[in-house]
Amino acid sequence: MKNLWIKYSYLFTISFFILGIFNIIFAWIGFFCLIMPFVFIIKDKEKTWCKSYCPRSNLFNRVFAKIGLKRSAPKWLVNGIGKRIMLTYFLLNFTMISLSTLMVFLDKRDPVEKVKFLIAFQLPWNIPNLLDVGIMPDWVVHLGFRVYSMMFTTIIIGLLIGFFYKARTWCSICPMGTLSSMALRKQNHSVNLEKGA
Ligand code: SF4
Repeated sequence: MKNLWIKYSYLFTISFFILGIFNIIFAWIGFFCLIMPFVFIIKDKEKTWCKSYCPRSNLFNRVFAKIGLKRSAPKWLVNGIGKRIMLTYFLLNFTMISLSTLMVFLDKRDPVEKVKFLIAFQLPWNIPNLLDVGIMPDWVVHLGFRVYSMMFTTIIIGLLIGFFYKARTWCSICPMGTLSSMALRKQNHSVNLEKGA
């Protein structure tokens, strides 16, 4: 099972985007990819998710196995600024998503039922909603669109830089990779303190 996942997990990423077209409620699956890096850090005390299981990096490896320019990425992109820009984008987006979902939940604003690129740029087409899964609360739909937008934005950036540079260049600036490295450092620091106590 583990080997099957490692081999075919790219299908998970593709399915995420296809299922979202059928019904945006499936975008909630995206939380799986947001949570799993930290689950493995707690469980294994290392970045097992990034090393083996991540369906997104698996997709990049697959797509760019035979295509792409395979250049080395510029240092500014992978060594600092790029990482900080993406982390800032993620934290800002996450805060906006949380607050706007809360406002929709409290009935203080309407849900935004559009996919956006980089928070601001609305795509010129609507999700067709081909599969009826019943009436969902507005906040559930809103959150689905926001998670789908975040995943859509990051996969497009990842594919673009994966084409121009090496396949997994995205991993150098991925907010989940950055945050899980920080969590791992904190965990190791706590363990070292306990050992020294
Ligand atoms: S850095 Fe991000 S995209 Fe790369 S393997 Fe880790 S979670 Fe996946």
